[in-house]
This record gives sequence, structure tokens and C-alpha cells, in this order.
Amino acid sequence: MPKETRNIKYLVEGIQTSDGAGVNLTRIIGSPELNMLDPFLLLDEFGSDNPNDYIAGFPPHPHRGFETITYMLNGKFTHEDTAGNKGHLSDGGVQWMTAGKGVIHSEMPEQTEGLVRGFQLWFNLPKEKKMIEPAYHDIQSDQIPVVEFEGGRVKVISGTFQGTTGPGRPHTGMMYLDIHLDSKQDITVPIANDWNGFVYVYEGSISANIGVPKGHLAVLDTKDDFLCSSSVENTRLILVAGEPLNEPVARGGPFVMNTKGEVLQAFEDYQSGRLG
Ligand code: FE
Repeated sequence: MPKETRNIKYLVEGIQTSDGAGVNLTRIIGSPELNMLDPFLLLDEFGSDNPNDYIAGFPPHPHRGFETITYMLNGKFTHEDTAGNKGHLSDGGVQWMTAGKGVIHSEMPEQTEGLVRGFQLWFNLPKEKKMIEPAYHDIQSDQIPVVEFEGGRVKVISGTFQGTTGPGRPHTGMMYLDIHLDSKQDITVPIANDWNGFVYVYEGSISANIGVPKGHLAVLDTKDDFLCSSSVENTRLILVAGEPLNEPVARGGPFVMNTKGEVLQAFEDYQSGRLG
């Protein structure tokens, strides 16, 4: 069957909010406008050169039932959790944390000035893996392969692009690319048919069946290739796609399970010290 090109279904703009001990960020998925895009539960963008926006960090807090993937474009953060893992994240690195049956972790800035910029994605775990042992995987910038081409490059964090496979170890099918287009040009990204996917433009703008300005997330329909072109020089976007789980989702703050009862159980376990 010939490949079919994906269209953009609609655009979403994030909302300004604050989380942790007072970190100012933009919530793009996990907001009233886009509650989730199966298997993705949340996408936050943080970006500021004002320490007041990030210095408070995220002191110890719990998670259960999914994975958090933090991609630092700029800045330094340190991670510590009750599974005994400690990691340092710096410019261009990725922190891949599997909360599984539960961790309590902190995510704190390791700098008191300068630019901090990046994304945190919450990636759901399938029902049979929600209570697996927690895990933690630091991926430094030089461990992320880069596919270079005339006028641009693609950093492959997870999944495969043009024969290059990223270091991410998802529990279900998932692709995470950071695409840099230095000049006005086209790019085609093959995505597994039926996976849900989105692009988020964080510099410049792109056009496909519709235009996507900076600071907007475009939800793609489910076909094969995504084809777009940069409308201006120095355009940058992340492209994330994943196999939908098609399972019930019960959310309760830092816990994402399949039923309300399981979420209540997570709160109970946390309060009684049985989580993490
Ligand atoms: Fe967290």
C-alpha cells in the first residue's frame, strides 16, 4: 500500500502555570484544552533566564504508574529518588525515569543563574507494567545520536530515524526526535501507522497542511509519514509519537492508574510510607 501523509488535525497553545515549589512553566498536554494524547499524559515546557522562575525546583514528590522523560535544552538539574538513583542532567541531556510502582524524587536546579530550558513528558505505562520496579536512566547529550543532512540535523532520543536508533528504552513503541532546520527546507519523518503523534515548535515556524507558529503543538492524524517545511531559518521542533494503549486512564495528581480505586490506593500508600 502506498504511504499516506499525515495531516495536522489541530493546534494547541500551552497555558502558563506553576508547579513544584513554584516553577513557572507552560503546560501543553495535561491542560483543559488537551487532557492527554494516548499514551502521552503531560507535556511541560520550561524556559527562563530568570532564576526566580526555576530556583525553587521540584522538592521530593511521588509518582506511580508512568514514566517521566525530561529533555534539557539548556541548564543543569540534579535528580534524586527513593530507589537510590542520583543523576545530573545538563545541556542536551535526557532523564528517563520509570516511576512504576512508585518513587519519591526531587528535581532541583544545579545553577543559580543563567538559562534553564527544556521539556518534561509524561509517558503512560500499559496496565501490566504500572507496578513494575522503578528505574532511572540518564542519557547525556553525547549519547544521543544525531542524523546530519544538508541544512539541518535530527537528534534521535527514542525510536529510529533514517536507520539511526536512539538510546531511549520505552516499554511500548515510542519515538522522540529533536529536529533542527537551519534553512527553509522540507523534512519527511516516517512514523508507524496508527501511532498518535504531535510536533511542538519551540523556535521558528513550520508549515504542513496548516502553519504551526512557535509555541504551538500540532496534533497529527494517524497515517504514515509526516511531511513539513520550515517557514523561517533556524526552526526547531520536537516530534513525539507513540503506540496508543487504548486503556482506561484514572489521574490523580502525580499518580496515573487505570481505575479510581488504584489512584486512591496510591495516595494511601504514599501517606502511610509504603510508596517509594
Ligand atoms: Fe517529578
